[in-house]
Amino acid sequence: MKIGKNALTVLEKRYLVKDENGKNIETVEGMFERVAGAVAQADLHYNSQGDIEATKKKFYDMMTNLEFLPNSPTLMNAGKELGQLSACFVLPVGDSMEEIFEAIKQAALIHKSGGGTGFSFSRLRASGSTVRTTGGVASGPVSFMRVFNMATEAVKQGGTRRGANMGILRIDHPDVLDFIDCKKNNADITNFNISVGITEEFMHAVENHQPYTLIDPKNKEVVGELDAREVFNKIVESAWRNGEPGIIFLDRLNRDNVVPSQGEIESTNPCGEQPLLPYESCNLGSINLVNMLAKKNGKYQLDYKKLENTVKSAVHFLDNVIEVNKYPLEQIDFTTKQTRKIGLGVMGWADMLLYMGIPYDSDEAVELAEKVMDFITEKGRKESMALAKERGSFPLFSESIFASGEPLRNATITTIAPTGTLSIIAGCSSGVEPVFAYVFIRNVMDGTEMIEVNPVLREILEERGLYTDELMKKIAKEGSLAHISEIPEDIRRVFVCSHDVSPLYHVKMQAAFQRHTDNAVSKTVNFTHDATVEEVEEVYMLAYKLDCKGVTIYRDGSRDSQVLNIGSVK
Ligand code: ADP
Repeated sequence: MKIGKNALTVLEKRYLVKDENGKNIETVEGMFERVAGAVAQADLHYNSQGDIEATKKKFYDMMTNLEFLPNSPTLMNAGKELGQLSACFVLPVGDSMEEIFEAIKQAALIHKSGGGTGFSFSRLRASGSTVRTTGGVASGPVSFMRVFNMATEAVKQGGTRRGANMGILRIDHPDVLDFIDCKKNNADITNFNISVGITEEFMHAVENHQPYTLIDPKNKEVVGELDAREVFNKIVESAWRNGEPGIIFLDRLNRDNVVPSQGEIESTNPCGEQPLLPYESCNLGSINLVNMLAKKNGKYQLDYKKLENTVKSAVHFLDNVIEVNKYPLEQIDFTTKQTRKIGLGVMGWADMLLYMGIPYDSDEAVELAEKVMDFITEKGRKESMALAKERGSFPLFSESIFASGEPLRNATITTIAPTGTLSIIAGCSSGVEPVFAYVFIRNVMDGTEMIEVNPVLREILEERGLYTDELMKKIAKEGSLAHISEIPEDIRRVFVCSHDVSPLYHVKMQAAFQRHTDNAVSKTVNFTHDATVEEVEEVYMLAYKLDCKGVTIYRDGSRDSQVLNIGSVK
């Protein structure tokens, strides 16, 4: 199996089975065999004569060929005692001490198993309101978020994942201004991503420079008024300062709530791509688009037949995961199986464009995004219908918006995940993001430097006889190829990095994928350090106008520790 050096490091450290002394006792192939075997078992639930070996081989091949990978918890836990396979959970937080600390306990159990949790804090009464049983005053959502944050810190995921949360507060909650500022200090509430839950009503008020009302979550009474424009500006300024809060369009999450009878969707998972009902969980998986390419007459093209087959196997795989999953709570087990949501997405999108010679920031790429994602969702849904024939539809099908059509096994099929670790394992660009940087210089312990070059760039430069270590160091230092005159113009136009792509194209790409994705799209709009507040505002507005479900931005250097740095050691 072809596996890169970084991939091997990640797998050895966190994924492969270890003995009691911490020594790895599993090979990479062994890991995929364990996962394929455990997930294939679900076929027996429907067909005791099922050819488990054939299914196992199909799953094994697609993973070891790096064509499809399930989310990290599946790779880590399938076929093991723990057996918790989902990345995404949403838990309700009710307005009582019992309910708040129950949610903390539930989150701790989920974190321990490698999952991430999302919460809406909008039901908690405002700070300063009275507590009937004690006569004291309530401390409000933000102070409780700090408790959730500390609990997450303490769990630390048993050394595998450090724990991740999403915290959402509605724009009309009386504590919204406190919430917007709660991560002003970069050292605060570090185990949370935060997003303000925006309503259409609020956005109209912003556009028309009108006030909007604050509502007491307890008795639904109007308790105040704020200027919508001012609050919007405050959100934007804060995001400009250090990337948070993001925004999430609640009405759009609920417009696409496929079983409205189950109540409102209030939150997403930690990275925003998976809106869920309280107690739902979802398992994700991503197709590596680079490995869906075929070379024809010297040119790379997407092999749609191969893509279709991979989508089919992936949907089969993810539906099986719901069956063999060991859920951290009885209620999650029940709720998840009511809708059987799965989240199939893609990774390696930017690398695929490089091979095809299409610049990420072009209308051609945006159009292709629509075509590819439409294809995946359509074929995925078709496979889910085929599964429903054999296995039955999801239990709430007759209450769903699909009720008049052909039965479906899964209430949602597609989600675009960040693929933070999966893309390292597959050795491709992450999710649908542009390439962050093409060359990294790594300092090895003995003082020597190791140069890591994007494989597609290396291939084309070698082909044209342009590859030298000197040139690579220059690219690493500059971060972008845009101003490197030794590189021919046609290559520079295609090999754009995150910071070369205008914010407009970042959002256009997100919107293109969103139009054909059942759930949501994980995407960060990257800004250079010198970007202005107005530019950030433009992006937040554009995400609204282009019908995105939310938006997250990051301005280079706006946090002391960031995951990726240009021009420095990775
Ligand atoms: P991976 O590549 O490891 O499968 P992603 O980067 O695609 O994961 O993230 C997908 C989802 O997994 C996130 O939105 C979140 O719900 C969950 N997740 C990611 N990182 C963590 C973490 N450190 N702890 C808990 N959950 C996480």
